[in-house]
Amino acid sequence: MKWEGRRQSDNVEDRRGMSTAGKVAIGGGTVGLLFLLVQLFLGGDSADMLNSLQNQMQQPTVQSGPVELTPEEKVLGDFASTVLADTEDIWHKLFQERGMTYREPKMVLFRDAVRTSCGGAQASSGPFYCPGDETVYMDMTFFNTLRQRFGARGGDFAIAYVIAHEVGHHVQNLLGILKETNNIRSQVGEVQANKVQVSTELQADFLAGVWAHHNQKYLEEGDAEEAINAAASVGDDNIQKQTQGYTVPESYTHGTSEQRVYWFTKGFRSGNISEGDTFRQNQ
Ligand SMILES: [Zn+2]
Repeated sequence: MKWEGRRQSDNVEDRRGMSTAGKVAIGGGTVGLLFLLVQLFLGGDSADMLNSLQNQMQQPTVQSGPVELTPEEKVLGDFASTVLADTEDIWHKLFQERGMTYREPKMVLFRDAVRTSCGGAQASSGPFYCPGDETVYMDMTFFNTLRQRFGARGGDFAIAYVIAHEVGHHVQNLLGILKETNNIRSQVGEVQANKVQVSTELQADFLAGVWAHHNQKYLEEGDAEEAINAAASVGDDNIQKQTQGYTVPESYTHGTSEQRVYWFTKGFRSGNISEGDTFRQNQ
């Protein structure tokens, strides 16, 4: 992707260089606290509980100073900011065409762990979008995992696709789709809830494709293939095969490699938001 020297987003907060001392909440802060309250109010052998609780809460507090970013990591941050700026430009335009106003999301770059209004997250959770604070959380070490573990080829557009997918969730949030799907999911059984989630995820892939369609003047040869390759590598069937050796389709939450590639490609070819009804078509 042609990106050097272009506009970068003002909505990026880089927490990669921060001290990792903030990890403490992840281990069991809230859970531990609840546990303590239960013990205090309901009795029980509190001394032992308190000791183990204190160990639990202290253990993750590994102090370390600010971390210096490598030149490669700095480039990665600049690239991510440029991609986010491109999503802002395109989604402002597409919303405007429909008489709506696009509200830009924030993006936090982190590694190891992060606190969000959706709860704490560890690096292993990968990139995600939190509707509560309208923020895309990008765990930058995830891209190494993507490459090493699932065979996604390295290259910038794979990263752009992942950012565009998370921004796709933000678009779903602004359009009220996330709220609706969360409602439905809370009212049905697990298998059905998973299906709804798969449709939600495939639509984010579709929206990433729509974005790429409108951003074509900055694409270089091979970029679309890189995104498709990344979409294929994060299919549930591929991930389950890699991690456990077999697949359990009822447990899919993001769709198969084939579905993810299908919907990204559909968005990329048409560029038309109205063609992304993954809820009807993914039955
Ligand atoms: Zn997603």
